[in-house]
Amino acid sequence: MLRRTARVLLGLVMTITFALGGAVLTAGTAQADGCYTWTRTLKAGATGNDVTQLQIRVAGYPGYNAVLAIDGSYGPATTAAVKRFQAAYGLAADGVAGPATQSKLYALQDNDCTPAHFTYPELNKCNSTWAGGKVAAGTAKANALSSMWKLEALRHALGDQSIRVTSGFRSASCNAAVGGASNSRHMYGDAVDLGASPHSLCTLAKQARYHGFRGILGPGYSGHNDHVHVNQGPSRFWSAPSCGI
Ligand code: ZN
Repeated sequence: MLRRTARVLLGLVMTITFALGGAVLTAGTAQADGCYTWTRTLKAGATGNDVTQLQIRVAGYPGYNAVLAIDGSYGPATTAAVKRFQAAYGLAADGVAGPATQSKLYALQDNDCTPAHFTYPELNKCNSTWAGGKVAAGTAKANALSSMWKLEALRHALGDQSIRVTSGFRSASCNAAVGGASNSRHMYGDAVDLGASPHSLCTLAKQARYHGFRGILGPGYSGHNDHVHVNQGPSRFWSAPSCGI
């Protein structure tokens, strides 16, 4: 209810602004929601937090075996990622994040900034505080958000069928309880385990290679015959021998 009220108020402010002619409003801002609103078209050469916010949301489109830097600087890699995002959703693929692209991102995000098909509780079945891992709670939660946008891209690429998250963030004690590795990326909040059905594990592992995950472990790798593990750790390591990876 509070969110709804906030959204109505936001809309009211925008309407007033528009009426006063104080700002040129794009279709994008008109559809702003409770999470984040861009106030300008973003394109190559742009820098700032609004670019960072864009990069978080298109980081699932870096191309094969690539990771988009979340650095607030709209360079060639960001342009390419935006083009892939646009193509994936049937938009004109010009690599410029204008009103149509921003509107699509608004439509994809919930008021808490998570993408439409994933939630914080889904990415944290361990505790509600995100504390007790290897990084500060806020960092773990931000890492999980980043993972979710990549999973949203993976989900869309696989025909918008559901993806089943079986484990996400773990505190050190949660990690120990499930027998996780002592240096598991789950304690950083950037690792996610995916279960089979509707997609096979190999389908998930293979497609994940296109969506910005540095770590992919699956069938044939020790302990990963019943799930696919993806993470955003600092070093690239893919292994799912049964899938040819
Ligand atoms: Zn895992």
